[in-house]
Amino acid sequence: MISVVVPIYNEEATIDRLYTELTSALASTNQPWQAIFVDDGSTDRSLTLLLAKQAADPRIVVLELSRNWGHQPAITAGLSVASGDAVVLMDGDLQDPPSAIPEMVKAWQGGAQVVLAVRRSRRESGLRRLLFPLFYKVLSFLSDYPIPMNAGIFGLIDRQVVDAINRLEETNRYLPGLRAWVGFKQSIVEYDRAARAAGEPKQTLSRLLRYGLDAVFSFSYKPLRLSLFTGITVSCLALLYGAILLGCRFLGIGMFGLPVITGYTSTIVSVLFLGGVQLISVGILGEYIGRIYEEVKRRPLYFIRNIHKAESVVLKTAAPTEKPQPSAPDSR
Ligand code: UDP
Ligand code: MG
Repeated sequence: MISVVVPIYNEEATIDRLYTELTSALASTNQPWQAIFVDDGSTDRSLTLLLAKQAADPRIVVLELSRNWGHQPAITAGLSVASGDAVVLMDGDLQDPPSAIPEMVKAWQGGAQVVLAVRRSRRESGLRRLLFPLFYKVLSFLSDYPIPMNAGIFGLIDRQVVDAINRLEETNRYLPGLRAWVGFKQSIVEYDRAARAAGEPKQTLSRLLRYGLDAVFSFSYKPLRLSLFTGITVSCLALLYGAILLGCRFLGIGMFGLPVITGYTSTIVSVLFLGGVQLISVGILGEYIGRIYEEVKRRPLYFIRNIHKAESVVLKTAAPTEKPQPSAPDSR
């Protein structure tokens, strides 16, 4: 069976089309399937629309989170309950075309355990068009571990990989990175990334930035090393400069033919430069320490308010569930 996990946050304008395209793509795979829509605290009619779909189609499961937790926590919640032999992760704004799913399923049936949907092209508007390629360049330069370029969450993962990812307990999650990190047999399917079907992007730029920083800082120690190397280089240069100055002083000559006492420029430049280097280093340390703090708190990533599903559907146990599932009547 194939499970599809789709995070939904205020996507009322897309849900009908999403459902139609998803069901027809899944029908062409000739596999039994379930679709898990994770309602991430939507404030529009998304939940109502999803519940209507769920009531009419027992293959639909709606996971209602307790509030808006964000893209990655929503996917994590969906992954933790998905019971398929393979799980497809995709966005709910139709930027990830359901029509790519049959090809991914084929690759999986051919033995691949992680099928990455890699963007052949993408259509983004505004600042995003500039920032996304830049992000992937920076990430691949900084990361200590090879993370595939141009692959977001869209893709298919085998049960074994799902179980591996579900075992990772970290709070700062960058799923494309974690998926690369766990290993297993990978293969690639290419697709053209569409523009959003409707509405504005639901991930604010500041969230995307935070997400990008998570990616860099949880997969790389290079920023820390960078400040170490900058420190060492600057100190060595300063020592050298000091030695030269001392030499000049004793020989009684001015540097570069200048009078012996100059002073102001070199002082102000070195103070400002070193101040900047120190602030950057402290900032980088702060990014890591903040993340360590979040990790040690061990707070759950999300809470589920409710699981809407047909009686017959069996899910994996969702860890942080608030409301117990209705159980069989007590026989005593
Ligand atoms: N999303 C979510 N919670 C959020 C923000 C977004 O579940 O807090 C969902 C959103 O409904 C969409 C997917 O995550 O299905 C990707 O969001 P978006 O298209 O805004 O992100 P982008 O394409 O800009 O990365
Ligand atoms: Mg999108």
